[in-house]
Amino acid sequence: MMKRLKLGMKSIVLLFTILACIIIAFYVALVMHIAVVYTHLFYLPILLAGVWYQRKAVYVALGLGIVHILVTSLSSLPLTMEEFGRAAIFIVVAYVIGFVSEERVKGEKALRESEEKFRAIFEGAIDGIIAIHLKTKKYVFANPGMSKLTGYSSKELLELAIAKLHHKKDLPYVLEQFAKVAQGEITLAEDIPILRKDDTVVYCDVNTQRLKLEGEEYLVGFFRDITERIRAEEERTRLIRALERKTKELEQIVYATSHDLRSPLVNVQGFSKELEQSLKELSSALQGGDVPEAVIKEITPILKEDVPEALRYIHTGTSKMDSLLSGLLRLSRLGRAALDIEKLDMNKLMSDIEGALDFQIKEKSAELIIDSLPPCRGDYMQINQVFSNLLDNAIKYLEPNRPGVIKVSGCLNADQSIYCVEDNGIGIAAEHQAKIFEIFQQLDPGTTTGEGLGLTIVRQILDRHKGSIWVESEQGKGSRFFVALPAWFQTPLG
Ligand code: ADP
Repeated sequence: MMKRLKLGMKSIVLLFTILACIIIAFYVALVMHIAVVYTHLFYLPILLAGVWYQRKAVYVALGLGIVHILVTSLSSLPLTMEEFGRAAIFIVVAYVIGFVSEERVKGEKALRESEEKFRAIFEGAIDGIIAIHLKTKKYVFANPGMSKLTGYSSKELLELAIAKLHHKKDLPYVLEQFAKVAQGEITLAEDIPILRKDDTVVYCDVNTQRLKLEGEEYLVGFFRDITERIRAEEERTRLIRALERKTKELEQIVYATSHDLRSPLVNVQGFSKELEQSLKELSSALQGGDVPEAVIKEITPILKEDVPEALRYIHTGTSKMDSLLSGLLRLSRLGRAALDIEKLDMNKLMSDIEGALDFQIKEKSAELIIDSLPPCRGDYMQINQVFSNLLDNAIKYLEPNRPGVIKVSGCLNADQSIYCVEDNGIGIAAEHQAKIFEIFQQLDPGTTTGEGLGLTIVRQILDRHKGSIWVESEQGKGSRFFVALPAWFQTPLG
């Protein structure tokens, strides 16, 4: 509305000036008969038109040029080429003023637009933005994001001292970071605690940018609220600690139970042997004594069949329990054993294992192919255990009706050494593949020896080495067990 009104006023003023010029020209030439050049006055409307309407001023100049020719031809003055030249100069001057004015208007428009763009970014930014005068350490401007972050209004922020935005105990760290940023040592100050108006604390990463305005130096800080992330990290650390504590407790329970259960088990084993002995003695006593025939007939099946059968069950049960307890004990010891991490020559480690498994391989008439393997980082004894278990399984679960072939290969993948133990054995159905790494999981118990602990041990060792294991398998065709371990050039494990 105001703009339109201004535009209307400008047109009226311009029109009035043009009219005044024309009237003066006619009056001077035709009424006063003064033979002087009066065109200087014409530059006033041309100038106004140029400033207000830019290159459209050329039309005003053209009109005034015509007026000038007309007035000259009506006056006593001679109409020479010079007068036409004068009219042409009007047009040239109008064009130049219009052009300059147009460039200025364009520049102003671009400046306004860019200012608006930056204002929108500044005001709409979720990050808090605040600028500080480096010399006086006073805040000079702050955006609404900063108000939201701190709880102070923009006006309050500008009057606030730096110390008010931080807890006393955090101030040394904040000032140290500020000094580093001010000296240009860093541009990102991390984990800066901000004390809000309501006395709660939020954490920010502050990205900084230097700014020089009229010779004064400022530092602009972009505050990103990372409180959620810090809280999540704290929660994660707390959970990891709790998990570590629980795992340790669990290991202790496993260790204590497997250890303490052994002595009653030894008792059962011992007394069942004693029972066997007593049974033998009882049998021979029965033979020699004068026990009535009817009684012998009645108790013989008990002594020869029922009790020995019960003893056999006890024996099988105690042996199974014995091997489970040894397995559990081994597992709990593994978690406690200190790791001696070094660069492992996997070709040497494999040939050691090959030597130890020689008998089993020959017994199964299997072929073991070992490729050249890249080294890795690990504890020799424990990694030896991993591959011994995998090769032991590969031999154990070969398909009896076809010649067994077991292949070990390896490659380097980024910062990991990946090994593959491949067999053409019985394979594992897809639905069982995840289960086999769980404790005491045997897919076909009774048909093979073992406690279903081998792969659990393997996984535990690899977890401690920050490695991993996975399987690809097809039932009836064979399996491929992949082991990933830190490559030898990795920094030592924590
Ligand atoms: P186990 O002592 O019974 O071998 P593991 O934990 O080593 O226990 O293996 C768990 C189960 O995974 C085994 O009972 C077997 O069914 C299956 N398994 C492991 N390795 C292979 C393999 N190479 N081929 C086929 N089945 C396998």
